Amino acid sequence: MRTRRIQDAMGKREKRGKQNFPSGNGQPTGDRRSPASQGDFGGQLLRWFDRNKRDLPWRRDCDPYHVWLSEIMLQQTRVGAVVEHYNRFLERFPSVETLAAARLSTVLAAWSGLGYYRRAHRLHAAAREVVHRRRGKFPATQAELETLPGIGRYSSAAIASIAFGQAVAAVDGNVERVLQRVLGRSIRGNPLWQIATERLNARRPGDFNQAMMELGATVCLPREPKCCLCPVQALCRTQGELERFPTARRRAKQAVDYALDRRRDLVFLLRRSRQTTLMPGMWELPELPTSQRSSGPWLTLRHAITSTDYLVRVAKVRLPPGTKGSWFKASRVGQLPLTGLARKILRQAKVI
Ligand code: SF4
Repeated sequence: MRTRRIQDAMGKREKRGKQNFPSGNGQPTGDRRSPASQGDFGGQLLRWFDRNKRDLPWRRDCDPYHVWLSEIMLQQTRVGAVVEHYNRFLERFPSVETLAAARLSTVLAAWSGLGYYRRAHRLHAAAREVVHRRRGKFPATQAELETLPGIGRYSSAAIASIAFGQAVAAVDGNVERVLQRVLGRSIRGNPLWQIATERLNARRPGDFNQAMMELGATVCLPREPKCCLCPVQALCRTQGELERFPTARRRAKQAVDYALDRRRDLVFLLRRSRQTTLMPGMWELPELPTSQRSSGPWLTLRHAITSTDYLVRVAKVRLPPGTKGSWFKASRVGQLPLTGLARKILRQAKVI
C-alpha cells in the first residue's frame, strides 16, 4: 500500500588530540597549511562566534527548558524551520510544568508541522519525568540527562554544556564534518568524540559547542564550504579540497492519493493506529479508494519525506458508507494532532 510505503520511508528517516590536530604558524606547506595549536583554534572560533552567531530565540538565555526544547526540535530539522515552531510551542507551553500537565494529543497538535512525532512523545514523557520524579528540576549533567526519554549522547552533551556549563563536547553531523576537514582524516565515532573533547574550550564549553555547530551550519557547508570566510582556515588541513563526503542519494518519486470528504462544515478524517511506530494516534486524510481514482485530482501538491518526493493528489469525493474514520467540525480540525501532510493539505484546501 502507498500509505505503508510512506510510513516505511518516514520510519527510516526517523532519527542530528591535540597530537593530530593542525597546529602551528599558519604558513602553507605545499598546498596545505601547517598545523595550528589547540588554543588558537578555540580562540579564533570563539571570537568569530561572538561576532557572527545568529540571533536565535533559544540563545537569549540558558534556561534548561529552552535549551532542551530547542535541541529536541533541532534533531532532524533545520534551524530556519524550527524558530517559528519553537516560539509558538513556548507560548503554548511556557514551562516544563505546563508541558507535563498537557495531554499528549495537545502536545502532538502543537508539534504538528515539525514532523518526527516520536520526538514529541518523548519530550512529553521527559517533561513528566522531570516534573513528577525530579520536582521540576532538570538533571544538570550529561550522564543524568541521558537517562531522560529522547535525549541521546549528542543532545545530553549539548544541553549539559549550554545550560549548565559542563565541559563536555557535543558532536553532531556539522561538528563531525568540520573536525574531519580540519584534521584531514575521515574519523568517526568514539575517536572523534575524544578529539572533540580534547579540543573543547573548558571555560566556555556551551559557546564552543555552539560555535562548532554554527561553523558547520553556515560556513563549512557539506558541498561548498566557504573557506574564505572561515575563522580557522589557516588551521585547516583540507580547506574543503580533500574529502569526498557522501553526496545526497538520488531521490525517489512516488504518487499518493488522498480523499477529502467535506460536507457543509464537517471534514472526514482517519486516525492512525496507536500501535504504529510512526505518528501513532494522529489524524490524516483517508487514502482514496482505488475505485474512486478515475477522476482527476482536485488538488496536487508536493511533499518530501527522507529520500522520496511525493506527488500528493487529493480528490474531493463522497466516501462510501462504512469508511473507517470520523467527522469533525472544520473549526475544530486545527486543534487536532494532524500529520504534517494532513495539515498541509487542509491548509491548501482552506479547511484550516
Ligand atoms: S570552511 Fe574550509 S577552511 Fe573552514 S573548516 Fe571547513 S573546510 Fe576547513
